[in-house]
Amino acid sequence: MAWETVIGLEIHAQLSTKTKIFSGASTAFGAEPNTQACAVDLGLPGVLPVVNAEVVRLAVRFALATNSSITERSQFARKNYFYPDLPKGYQISQMALPIVGPGEMTIFDGEDRQKTIRITRAHLEEDAGKSVHDLFSDQTGIDLNRAGTPLLEIVSEPDLNSAVEAVAYAKKMHALVRYIDICDGNMQEGSFRCDANVSIREKGSDVLGTRSEIKNLNSFRFLERAIDFEVERQIDVLEGGGEVVQETRLYDADRDETRSMRSKEEAFDYRYFPDPDLPPLLVEQSFIEQVRANMPELPTVRTQRFVTDYELSEADAVTLTSERPTADYFEATLAAQHITPRLAATWVMGEVFSRLNNDGLSLEQSPVNAEALAGLLIRIQDNTISGKIAKSVLDTMWESGEPADKIIAAKGLQQITDTGAIEAMIDEVIANNPEQLAEYRAGKDKLISYFIGAVMKASKGKANPGELNKLLKPKLDG
Ligand code: ADP
Ligand code: MG
Repeated sequence: MAWETVIGLEIHAQLSTKTKIFSGASTAFGAEPNTQACAVDLGLPGVLPVVNAEVVRLAVRFALATNSSITERSQFARKNYFYPDLPKGYQISQMALPIVGPGEMTIFDGEDRQKTIRITRAHLEEDAGKSVHDLFSDQTGIDLNRAGTPLLEIVSEPDLNSAVEAVAYAKKMHALVRYIDICDGNMQEGSFRCDANVSIREKGSDVLGTRSEIKNLNSFRFLERAIDFEVERQIDVLEGGGEVVQETRLYDADRDETRSMRSKEEAFDYRYFPDPDLPPLLVEQSFIEQVRANMPELPTVRTQRFVTDYELSEADAVTLTSERPTADYFEATLAAQHITPRLAATWVMGEVFSRLNNDGLSLEQSPVNAEALAGLLIRIQDNTISGKIAKSVLDTMWESGEPADKIIAAKGLQQITDTGAIEAMIDEVIANNPEQLAEYRAGKDKLISYFIGAVMKASKGKANPGELNKLLKPKLDG
């Protein structure tokens, strides 16, 4: 039997505000436990929540970036449950009237085809505190610093049909929220986390299968592995004659498997109702226009601009604009010196990316910034050094942080463009290789590359390749 995978993602993006969604307490990460929860976050008697306007602005930004509708009159609701890290006994969220309505996002599926994923909704809510299990023996600590931190929960339709597509969607969403500066995307700190709803059905069927929901996946690798495991598990259940039960499952990275947390029967009735402390949230058209006027350039627009303005291929433009820091770095390189876009693109995507990869660094952590890279590339462009030597200069820049010019001068790496000097080296190489010369003259044309290599070696890689090519052949031909 052929099965089709069906996935819908719920993504929690922590909104980058200085203060909490309903209070003025700080949202800074890493503070001493319980120093950043104020009376509002704790739900003490006599206090009232007030919506942080910045949170609304960021949600509207998201809506504009995803072609989503904006609810003119949305409503906060209480989601009631009892848990030690939830001081009020309810979480303020949005249920029936989320601030962001249907929208969409286009991804590339596993076969490089474009696919549009429908966004069902995105709603505002407050985060809960944190239970700390590893600080005291036999006791659990509660840190309420995170209570009241603003979250945007982005819910997709079940339009994703493989783990690869789910990861592509999650990555694109991750890049987008950083592009529009609404979330720092730090997955280790929990600023961006996913729940995956997974089901399978017979290929060709249009009825959804029963799903399980895998909670709190905080890396793309875990998201992919959890889905793959879950699909296999559900296939085994159905092919073994059983039935998939609707339940919440946890992914255990150490054992690479999902485990049941609670089934639908145990599912909690959250008794949602409109929060009487918060009036409906009105988003006026003038407010939306103000947000629109301050929107940064969106990735898709930037991609097209890179194709048009820099004459890059669509694929290169997509790579360079997929993350905002990459696009910024590339453009800063061009701005620093008159580097041709093609050369800068090749070096950013090739040499820079591979060194970052090797060192496990992000572009923001690169030891060579855009200005420094431009300082190197301009020396390739003006023929001071060859591309090959430039690679070794970049290695040194990477280690020492010194500018390209200083390294080139200190190591005497300037290309030899003086024709007299190159000719002298060619003459010497020819004199030292009489046999190869004879073979070449007898018709073995390919030996020209042997001579090029030998002269290059004699020049320690510094002979200008263009000059060398021009001078060598006439001499070989006699
Ligand atoms: P809940 O209120 O229980 O969270 P929703 O109906 O809001 O459920 O759906 C949550 C997520 O689950 C959405 O992303 C949705 O696309 C996805 N989803 C719903 N049904 C299925 C299914 N049968 N298979 C896969 N995903 C599903
Ligand atoms: Mg849900």
